[in-house]
Amino acid sequence: MIRIAIQSKGRLSEESLALMNEAGIKIDELKRKFLSRAVNFPLEVLYLRDDDIPGVVEEESADLGIVGYNEVAETGADVKIVRKLGFGACRISIAIPKDQEYTGPQFLSGKRIATSYPNVLEAWLEENGVDAEIQKIMGSVEIAPAAGIADAIFDIVSSGGTLVSNGLKEVEVVLRSEAVLIAGNNMSEEKQQILDSMLFRFDAVENSRGKKYILMNLPTEKVEEAVKILPAMRSPTVMPLAAEGWCSLHSVVHESELWDKIERLKAIGAEGILILNLDKVIE
Ligand code: ATP
Ligand code: MG
Repeated sequence: MIRIAIQSKGRLSEESLALMNEAGIKIDELKRKFLSRAVNFPLEVLYLRDDDIPGVVEEESADLGIVGYNEVAETGADVKIVRKLGFGACRISIAIPKDQEYTGPQFLSGKRIATSYPNVLEAWLEENGVDAEIQKIMGSVEIAPAAGIADAIFDIVSSGGTLVSNGLKEVEVVLRSEAVLIAGNNMSEEKQQILDSMLFRFDAVENSRGKKYILMNLPTEKVEEAVKILPAMRSPTVMPLAAEGWCSLHSVVHESELWDKIERLKAIGAEGILILNLDKVIE
């Protein structure tokens, strides 16, 4: 049995559960309480506030955790980052009132900076030789300058819309973050094996992201050209059609290249092109 701590309510909760679900690990969400058990996998889920997750994993009350990297950095917990999970992307940045001219880190000397991430900020200020006053506040950091309680803020930014609507501009990106899977440093052999089988599944989910399965009919004489356009995991699958001189070609393509490849395939005579979603990819 292995225990994973995830955020109970908040930006990362749904995607944390969705990842386990896509990995075929069923957790009864209707029974979402402090601790619940997966039905078909030796896993227990502990629902916590995100701030508490790194510490709980460090002291081994949970074996694993899913949390924003920003929280790992802020708590300084001694845990391993096992995987970056590709969701919950954000950055922690310094922002100042938009009508002020930013001249570099020294602009912040002697200023008051409001933040919920005092440790990450302190490290950055020290690195840049800036002597500023850190004001720790836990919520609504973005209104601190307008309220006159700070000159700048250090806060999470994703689209930047909140900054703009509070008359602020981003001047330094200090930390880039996404959700990460963390683990304690001393895992038993048995738990390590369960983790490995979870990772195998997570990686299959991750590998399928952004990929499409593509199949088409093609004059057999064009196969060589098509293979050049469509390098697949090993190489594309080619199957003869009942109609003489034609074959069916199957491959996997990344979404970002899909339309470009389709145009090139059509140009060499591909027809009946089908594009399907991929669920899992095991390389
Ligand atoms: P909790 O009640 O669990 O303490 P919280 O209010 O501290 O929740 P959320 O706002 O749910 O935290 O954010 C959780 C994490 O989501 C953040 O730590 C960060 O890693 C990530 N995140 C991604 N985009 C954003 C964003 N625009 N604003 C805030 N957090 C974001
Ligand atoms: Mg929190």
